[in-house]
Amino acid sequence: MEKLRPLKGTQSLYGEAADRFAHVVATFERVRRLYGFGRVEVPMFEMTGVFARTMGETSDVVSKEMWTFESRSEGSVTLRPEFTAGIARAFLSEGWKQYAPMKVATHGAAFRYERPQKGRYRQFHQLDAEVIGSADPMADVELLCFGAQLLEELGIEGVRLKLNTLGDSESRDNWRAALIEHFAAHRSELSEDSQERLEKNPLRILDSKDPRDRPFADSAPTMQLSAEAEDFFGQVKAGLDAAGVAYELDPHLVRGLDYYRHTAFEFVTDQLGAQGTVLAGGRYDGLIEQLGGPHTPAVGWAAGIERLSMLLDHDAKDAIEAAILPMGEEARTYAIRAAQVLREAGIAAEIFWSGKMAKRMSRADAAGAGAALIIGEDEVAAGTVQYKDLRTGEQRQLTPEDTIDPITDLAAEAMLAEWEEGESR
Ligand code: ATP
Ligand code: MG
Repeated sequence: MEKLRPLKGTQSLYGEAADRFAHVVATFERVRRLYGFGRVEVPMFEMTGVFARTMGETSDVVSKEMWTFESRSEGSVTLRPEFTAGIARAFLSEGWKQYAPMKVATHGAAFRYERPQKGRYRQFHQLDAEVIGSADPMADVELLCFGAQLLEELGIEGVRLKLNTLGDSESRDNWRAALIEHFAAHRSELSEDSQERLEKNPLRILDSKDPRDRPFADSAPTMQLSAEAEDFFGQVKAGLDAAGVAYELDPHLVRGLDYYRHTAFEFVTDQLGAQGTVLAGGRYDGLIEQLGGPHTPAVGWAAGIERLSMLLDHDAKDAIEAAILPMGEEARTYAIRAAQVLREAGIAAEIFWSGKMAKRMSRADAAGAGAALIIGEDEVAAGTVQYKDLRTGEQRQLTPEDTIDPITDLAAEAMLAEWEEGESR
């Protein structure tokens, strides 16, 4: 029989890696609520045109990274390589226009046919945030603040926000012409890819990682902004200053996809080598029109969960609050009852079923428990547990119900200590 193996570029996670992943998602879910972004869910696959039309035929994603196949009855379909296009499609086909401006967030799997390497997978996972139907630069600012606070709360160090403007259509068209002229003068010295991009999408040459392109990309003319685009960018910068979010201006920052206008940004770190971008996005005022909808200004970002997980500098395992240690056959069902009492009171309790007492105690300690409930024959007979405060070593006989208050207090203390540690980090 053929030996079954995981598909290339997919991951199965357990233990620390899975805990980190879950911590990134939980932090995202918490922070998005602080910023008033509602949840949105979109399908994992769409008609191929949803991505091909919005992301641009010449983008890397559409030209070589999509997982596309013929379906039996719906023609060509594609596994989502990102969220924005699907959300924009839903905005139109679900009639979400009535809710505009819409602040939405989602997360889940995305698929790209890439050569797998560290931090680059074929199935990866993204966090995504979008504001659809707002032309206000303050929407960009709020969205950027959300991204900055997320990275901050994850405790990721050495992150810098790079910021640029791609101008409005007018400034962009002029710039495009200037770039074509600049690159055409060095056509034969450019990489094959860039020679091909030259007329179709010269902006993407600026983004090239090929060393043959870098000198010409670095010496390329920068955009001359129209007064309107200048004003928009000025408001974005002023908003970020007011919120205390630091940024670096990077006139060569472009986003790989065609649909961007005005604000473009990337949060980068030098900790991941070539995969240094952890959160990226910008304003895409042209996208919904490209799907056949009305002009609808919008701005958004996406972040790779795997890359964020790799950067967490601390253990992300959820600590338990109480350890229950039954001794002997009779204590087993009593332990289940005690655990139920605690869990229904909102306390994370784990039963350590077997092994030497000292060994079980050290496992309870490693799991973060602040209290232990030891149950022997005497406790079962008396309807109590031997309650032990693992910080002070103090012991008492209590009913399972009476342990709820002291355990809750211990858990609150532990949470405060963790928060203070996070503040000083
Ligand atoms: P890169 O330059 O690394 O290829 P990208 O510009 O293609 O990134 P985006 O389309 O902006 O990436 O996607 C947003 C984020 O999703 C990236 O910053 C990254 O964290 C993550 N990401 C993109 N592709 C992959 C992948 N194949 N594996 C893991 N994470 C990815
Ligand atoms: Mg890519």
